[in-house]
Amino acid sequence: MKGVTILGATGSIGINTLDVMSRYPGEYRIVALTANSEVERLYRQCQAFQPQYAVMANEIAAEQLAGRLRDDMPDVQVLSGVAGLEQVAALEQVDIVMAAIVGAAGLLPTLAAARSGKRILLANKEALVVAGHIFMEEVRGNGAELLPIDSEHNAIFQCMPAGFEDGLAEVGVQRIMLTSSGGPFLQVPAEEFPSITPDQACAHPNWAMGRKISVDSATMMNKGLEVIEACLLFSTTPDKVQVVIHPQSVIHSMVEYLDGSVLAQLGAPDMRIPIAHALAWPKRIESGAERLDLFEIARLDFEAPDLERFPCLAYAFEAASRDDTAAVIMNAANEEAVSAFLDNAILFPDIPRVIRRALDELSPRQAASIEEVLHDDQRAREHAREIIKGIKSDYCK
Ligand code: NDP
Repeated sequence: MKGVTILGATGSIGINTLDVMSRYPGEYRIVALTANSEVERLYRQCQAFQPQYAVMANEIAAEQLAGRLRDDMPDVQVLSGVAGLEQVAALEQVDIVMAAIVGAAGLLPTLAAARSGKRILLANKEALVVAGHIFMEEVRGNGAELLPIDSEHNAIFQCMPAGFEDGLAEVGVQRIMLTSSGGPFLQVPAEEFPSITPDQACAHPNWAMGRKISVDSATMMNKGLEVIEACLLFSTTPDKVQVVIHPQSVIHSMVEYLDGSVLAQLGAPDMRIPIAHALAWPKRIESGAERLDLFEIARLDFEAPDLERFPCLAYAFEAASRDDTAAVIMNAANEEAVSAFLDNAILFPDIPRVIRRALDELSPRQAASIEEVLHDDQRAREHAREIIKGIKSDYCK
């Protein structure tokens, strides 16, 4: 039996992970489930999966959960805060950690999993984008295994030859083709962007996801974060990563070889496929996803991204080509801007504006430690909040 911790159990990825795992009760045992503040949802998951530990990042929520569990599940240990998340990511009885917290908030617990040599199923792309090479060195130095959950990176991983870790050129890989649905506004002219509402931005045409990643998909920042993620996971540079708009989301990404061959991974747009792949790798298990019906799909379309309408993608390529904390600043400004947009405080086109200003007004530096990364993340968040305050007060005039 493999012991599993799910960081971010109450989210979209967490729920899909529990769905896949519940098909194999004899193979996987839930050791710990974590959430931020959704007490009732985590309580119900504890009833269904009987973990040893339940962690709420929010202290008040942790007290409420402990109160709910006291009578009917007194054996479940309730922990709180970042320390609690780090503890359950590093427990000896845990073999696999699903990293599915949203945003840079997932960095420290995911790092704890890397430092204790776990198999990490990485959904939380922001953690990797922010910590970059420092995170990859912790993975390598501590014998951890990093398997991508993002459907694109999981597809690339499946199309890569053995030994790709030693360098893509060594194994004859020329280029990564990262597909993107283009999001809900692929056909919408820029003049209409100011009237886009949070609910419209969260209505993704192909995938059901949490609200933050849905907005990132709508601005194409999600693809930008994925470009940086691809460079780190596959030890390559942004000039070797091509973004291809593919509205049907059937091909999840491709790898081009030196001889002109292109390998692709296809499947229904269902996150249970990459989750099942990474959970059981190198074995294959049933995921519960629908089979692909190529006759029903009938055609596949491809086009180049429009960097004028979706500048976030260009900003991410810019950050990916630097080895300083530009990606930290970009990610922090994006998280703050998306949160303000979801609160109806700023408009959709303000998201790239906040990011651009943060990148121009702050000085990125070479970060030698996680502490320096976290410092720059905090500084960028404070600066982005000031920019947002200015935009809000302009709207009030
Ligand atoms: P959700 O918003 O659905 O879930 C986020 C999870 O993180 C919840 O369990 C939430 O708890 C928890 N959480 C939020 N803030 C904190 C915090 N400060 N500290 C600790 N836990 C916190 O997100 P998704 O599942 O959609 O996405 C999770 C990650 O996976 C993201 O990085 C995303 O980019 C990535 N991803 C998601 C995909 C998808 O299909 N959804 C596809 C590919 C990647 P609570 O419920 O209590 O708020």
